[in-house]
Amino acid sequence: MEKTYDQFRASLLYCNKCGRAMPVWEHLLLILPDGELYDYLCQGCGSSVGSKTEKTSSKVAVVTSQRMPNLPLSTRQQKNK
Ligand SMILES: [Zn+2]
Repeated sequence: MEKTYDQFRASLLYCNKCGRAMPVWEHLLLILPDGELYDYLCQGCGSSVGSKTEKTSSKVAVVTSQRMPNLPLSTRQQKNK
């Protein structure tokens, strides 16, 4: 009966306390510089059954080669990667 949950992806996780796969709450725990840390809490007993870090690459600002207007042309750098 528990094998019919395939389509739920990460919304079901195995809980040690309940002894079976349980529906979980996805709870945003921390916002990291490179992503967001989610905690999964069992909806049956409320214990943490897992976590994941979701990378947010979109937070990196678009880096454009900014020219410093004060610098003379000779020290101006080309785009360095
Ligand atoms: Zn549980």
